[in-house]
Amino acid sequence: MDKIKRYVECYVPITTCNLKCHYCYITRQEKWKDEIVPIGHSPEEIVKALSKKRLGGTCLINLCGGGETLLCPQIAETAKAFLEEGHYVMLVSNGTVTKVLEQIAAFPKVLLKHLTFKFSYHYLEHHRLGLTERFFGNIKMMRDAGCSFTLEVTPNDELIAHIGEMKEEVMRHLGALCHVTIARNDIVPSIPILSELPEEEFYRTWEQFDSPLFDFKRTIFGKHQEKFCYAGEWSVYVHLGTGVMTQCYEGRVLDNIYENTDRPLHFEAVGHRCKTAHCYNGHSFLSLGDIPELDTPTYAELRNRESGDGKEWLNEEVKAFLSGKLKDSNKEYSRLKKWMVDRKR
Ligand code: SF4
Repeated sequence: MDKIKRYVECYVPITTCNLKCHYCYITRQEKWKDEIVPIGHSPEEIVKALSKKRLGGTCLINLCGGGETLLCPQIAETAKAFLEEGHYVMLVSNGTVTKVLEQIAAFPKVLLKHLTFKFSYHYLEHHRLGLTERFFGNIKMMRDAGCSFTLEVTPNDELIAHIGEMKEEVMRHLGALCHVTIARNDIVPSIPILSELPEEEFYRTWEQFDSPLFDFKRTIFGKHQEKFCYAGEWSVYVHLGTGVMTQCYEGRVLDNIYENTDRPLHFEAVGHRCKTAHCYNGHSFLSLGDIPELDTPTYAELRNRESGDGKEWLNEEVKAFLSGKLKDSNKEYSRLKKWMVDRKR
């Protein structure tokens, strides 16, 4: 069974989108008018820079664009190259770019077994543009091709009036309710929830989806993490365009993945001084185990669902891989090393 060595959160440099969700920063800043530009590095270069050898083993590679990831040229080839290298890949997508999804569905089965789609559910846009059938058809196409998937909705106040219809729609198509994430207001330093509702009412409104993802996120949302965090050592954030690799979203720059690709990459943990107001994407970083002292559900538990027909959204191999913790294939620092990492600041 494969064990996760590192979690690599990759930013895919695409800032445009084919949807215009009213709450999204792409729409608010009219970024959907942005040009589509290539990553600037071939899939072979990217994977050489993030090879198993350089990363120390089999990793979970998350590919997420600023806009719609699948609009980025060569994203399918890049995902394929990571899978051929032996990594597990997650692709974040709005699920409507059928041409690229069809291209991916034609990959060899053995590769698709380690590919997971994180589909986002944009109910209002689907209904405005008449995309509902295409969206669910695409999810089923990727599931039938052998991929794993998960589906999440970004809660927003305009959607509240449609919760009943949305639940009925997703149950009819997928036999389970979607997961729920938490939208955040990145402009405010404390990164609060993006909603006009009082906090308690917000949670009461969206908890009706019984989403383990949502339930876990609410336990960490708004709380600064004070314990020793191994982001920077066990997980990293990489901008695939520039190659800059940082400890986490706000951590120090550790390396440039495209420079001197024959030498090892430099890793170093954030330690006790996380710079981010709260770990808003801790549903991945923390459930995978960046803070080993924290007792959390596994990432598989937060992403999976049973479809009612006995099938699950995650296939057996992905489920086993995402059930692992980073501490199982990495050594924790000695007290001296922890002290030195914290003192560096
Ligand atoms: S606590 Fe979360 S946000 Fe902070 S460094 Fe660790 S993983 Fe990153």
